[in-house]
Amino acid sequence: MLSCKQTTELASNRLDAPITGWQKLGVGLHLALCANCRRYAKQLKFLQRVFTNADNQALGPLLSDEARQRIRQKLQDAGNHDD
Ligand SMILES: [Zn+2]
Repeated sequence: MLSCKQTTELASNRLDAPITGWQKLGVGLHLALCANCRRYAKQLKFLQRVFTNADNQALGPLLSDEARQRIRQKLQDAGNHDD
């Protein structure tokens, strides 16, 4: 069973690198049991969508490079919340 820290770290890492099937399974299992990480993952998903859209197309002109950098930083900070 993954810890909350491991789960949020894996969830954050998905922004940069794909995770393995086993890791995905572990995260899914943890999220099913842990409301805190579920909330975090939901937030992350939202930010991830904004971030991806910003990189890809329509929202691109709306977000400066600096804003994207800030979002990335925020996601990393959020992943380290229970240190
Ligand atoms: Zn958790």
